[in-house]
Amino acid sequence: MHGSQRHADGTGPGDGRCWSGVLLALLLSTGASAEPNSEQQAESRAPLIVAQDHAWPPFAYLDGNDQPRGLLIDLWRILGEELDRPVEFRLVDWPQSIELVRDGVADVHGGLFFSSERDAFLDFSDELLPLSTAAFTASDLPIPDLDALGNRAIGVVAGSFEKTFMQSERPDLALKTYPNNDAMVEAAVANEVEVFIADYPVGMFLLARHTDPAAFRPLEVLYTKPLRVGVKAGDEALTSGFNRAIAGVSDETLRQIEQRWLRGETREVVPVRLILTILGVSLLGILLAGASFLLLQRRWLRQQVIARTEELRHANEQIEATLRFLRQVTDNVPGIIFSFRRPADGGQDSFTYISDRVTAWFDLTPAQLHQDAAPLIQRIEPTDAGTVARNIDQSARTLALWRGQFRIRFRDGQYRWINAQSMPATQDDGGIVWYGYFAEVQDYKEMEIALLARERQFRLIVENANDIIYTVNAKGLLTYVSPNWTAMLGHAVSEVRGQPLKSFIYIEDQTQFQRFLHEVLSTGERKREIEFRVRHKSGEIRWHMSNAAPIYDDETGETLYLGIGRDITARRIAEQEQRYQFRFQRLVADLSAHLVSYGFGNIDPQINYILRRIGEFFGVDRAYLFRFSPDQKIMTNTHEWCAPEIPSVIEDMQDVSLAEFRWWWRKIAGMVDNEEVAFVRDVEALPEEAAIEREVLRRQQVRSMFGVPVKINQQVIGFFGVDSVTARDWREDQTDLLLVIANLMSGALEKNRLEQEVMSMSITDALTGLPNRRYLETRLTESIKNYSRHGQDFATAILDLDHFKRINDTYGHGTGDHALRRFAAIARSCVRGIDVVARYGGEEFVIVFPDTPLTDARQSVERVLERTRTLTEHDDGLPMTLTVSAGLVMASELKEETLSLQALTAVADARLFRAKNLGRDRMVWDD
Ligand code: GH3
Ligand code: MG
Ligand code: MG
Repeated sequence: MHGSQRHADGTGPGDGRCWSGVLLALLLSTGASAEPNSEQQAESRAPLIVAQDHAWPPFAYLDGNDQPRGLLIDLWRILGEELDRPVEFRLVDWPQSIELVRDGVADVHGGLFFSSERDAFLDFSDELLPLSTAAFTASDLPIPDLDALGNRAIGVVAGSFEKTFMQSERPDLALKTYPNNDAMVEAAVANEVEVFIADYPVGMFLLARHTDPAAFRPLEVLYTKPLRVGVKAGDEALTSGFNRAIAGVSDETLRQIEQRWLRGETREVVPVRLILTILGVSLLGILLAGASFLLLQRRWLRQQVIARTEELRHANEQIEATLRFLRQVTDNVPGIIFSFRRPADGGQDSFTYISDRVTAWFDLTPAQLHQDAAPLIQRIEPTDAGTVARNIDQSARTLALWRGQFRIRFRDGQYRWINAQSMPATQDDGGIVWYGYFAEVQDYKEMEIALLARERQFRLIVENANDIIYTVNAKGLLTYVSPNWTAMLGHAVSEVRGQPLKSFIYIEDQTQFQRFLHEVLSTGERKREIEFRVRHKSGEIRWHMSNAAPIYDDETGETLYLGIGRDITARRIAEQEQRYQFRFQRLVADLSAHLVSYGFGNIDPQINYILRRIGEFFGVDRAYLFRFSPDQKIMTNTHEWCAPEIPSVIEDMQDVSLAEFRWWWRKIAGMVDNEEVAFVRDVEALPEEAAIEREVLRRQQVRSMFGVPVKINQQVIGFFGVDSVTARDWREDQTDLLLVIANLMSGALEKNRLEQEVMSMSITDALTGLPNRRYLETRLTESIKNYSRHGQDFATAILDLDHFKRINDTYGHGTGDHALRRFAAIARSCVRGIDVVARYGGEEFVIVFPDTPLTDARQSVERVLERTRTLTEHDDGLPMTLTVSAGLVMASELKEETLSLQALTAVADARLFRAKNLGRDRMVWDD
């Protein structure tokens, strides 16, 4: 059973959030005080044993000398006086203090709250004091209320009402138990717990003892309850005695006690001091005091709030400055910075932060993505999306760096390559946040793709090119050759790599190539086009052209010679052919010009000239012209050119009867009838039917030959041929070229024949049939020109019959004429075909010996003198004596600048005159 409340319960535990209730209760209790009962006083002379906590300052505690002290101790001494009994204290740990009463060791518990549990073994007095209990926390902890504590423990004292209260009212909060308040506050000061629960005055008192009380603040007043006296259950008399005693304590007394304990011994703890200064004043005073307290607490709280707000504002400013800086950074970095969150509960992913650039790139707003990451994730290119998702999942599992390269659709609808990189971190709630960066790498990717394509292309080029690509080191060894070496030069690649390049180069080109290689390696410069010959595996020589550049080999650190070799054999052949064709064209042009410039007259020198040029051009040993007799039964070698050291055979081939050469005859018939070419590749291989021909050709040292028909006026009049004394390969088109030459000669001969016909009338002397003076002068002029141009010396002789007047006078003019004709024939027969014999006038003749030395000319003239002298009879049988005198001059005797027709004939004339004077029938050839 417990005592009834002494006052109307206007301040129940529910609204005991402030100290007004405590004050009111105290005030009312003082107002209801009464005189103590005298009977009871007498009964209670025996010491009253009071149990109480030993560490409950300022209510009860043991001082340094183990003496009980405190507000309740003082109050109990007064109550003892009221009851007229001495009082003894048993100050022990709180749970024990209750046990002492229950067990009957102590008479009374000095002050505790009612609880149904305690009610089982205790009876409770009226209210001794009202007491509020509060939760305290450090001032600098940002804890708004108890709900914010989560699973962090709250300090309570073992066996205390606070503990029971907390267990029943706030079972969600964890508690940490301490044996007493002192230990608990100490632990709180040492940050062992963030919040502890204590009776307010107790808490403040102990805080003042252990630290600056301002370091802590009341977080919440949990309840305000009357502190009562506990008496062992059943002793109603004792309980009512206490009630009377309690009522007997005057307000003033109580005020003094409380003032002592809550002001004198504590530091300046505002709320408590205030309570005590107003204890004992009027209700209004109490209310004012309550309001003041409220104000003060609010002010204190406001100060705290202001201080905290200031701190927060400062912190915020810093954060904002940092954020501004970061935003500037994030906005100006070329990519997108993000934090991507994946909640633990499998909820949707989101970008807790993403740079504003996301709008420019994707037309999505950061706000949108804060809600849900999907709109951005969905833009990943479908074939890449699977990999990206898998990689993110894996990164979430392993917490390893996530890297990815994928295509994503930009606002323009185009997919571009993105490089993503982010680091995951777990959060307290089990979620994962990736802090990362997106970079657009489209250009780089395109370059990469292009590079790959180029590399592939290059490889294809290298492997499939018509060129050989190879590298050579400074020692001249091939370190790489592309596979088509085999196709181009026959060797397997393995036969070539590691071998000296030199060993494949044609010997004559090795030095040149070495120099080229050395130059490339020493100057480090790219070189263009060296052409050299390379030996094919078959032994064949191939022409190659190579470009070269030095390259640095990363692997070996050497500078290598990189060559690109191309087979240019076909080109070289074509070029040679072109050159050959060009030379041939030039030859033909030259020969044509030559023939034209000679105009008319004796064609023989031109033919000889043509033969020499042809022979030299084709590299043969002889070139010649044969003429057939009109009936084509006899052939005569009319012109011949021989290479140095090659013997002339022209004398052998005069008036050769074709009847002897049956095989040759058929060939010639083919030439004449069908304009065929006569070709003997190898004389030794001639058939048996050509045995005679073979003999003749062997004698002439001919090994192979070519004959091409020559025509005049559509008639084959002979053939033009070339001989080689060695077996040789003739060009396939040799026939064509020789036909061109033959046609040229035909044309010249034709022209010459026509000229002859046209000119014969005016240039031939009718009596003797010899060319006349006009013709002679033309030929002499040509010879002079020829001498000036080619240095071909020639001789000119003037011959005059001796005492011809006498023949006329003796035998008559007819015989004279006859003698003139006979002489003409003699003169003609004594000189070569190419020599010109002309009737200069009357009984004077001139012979020109082209390309003839003095001795030969002298011999010829002597022969004429001799034959004339030995002529004994005329045609008509009459005896005849005929002699002739001659003056001979070589063109080379005259100075070139004075050489002329007139000068030459003048010298010859002068010598003829001397010959006459010296007795005639003689020749004079010098001065
Ligand atoms: P030399 O020369 O030895 O000093 O004595 P020459 O008698 O030969 O000298 P000259 O020049 O005086 O005589 C040349 C003669 O030749 C004169 C001329 O009658 C003769 N004659 C010239 N043309 C012809 C011709 O066409 N027929 C004949 N029958 N006689 C001719
Ligand atoms: Mg004469
Ligand atoms: Mg004369």
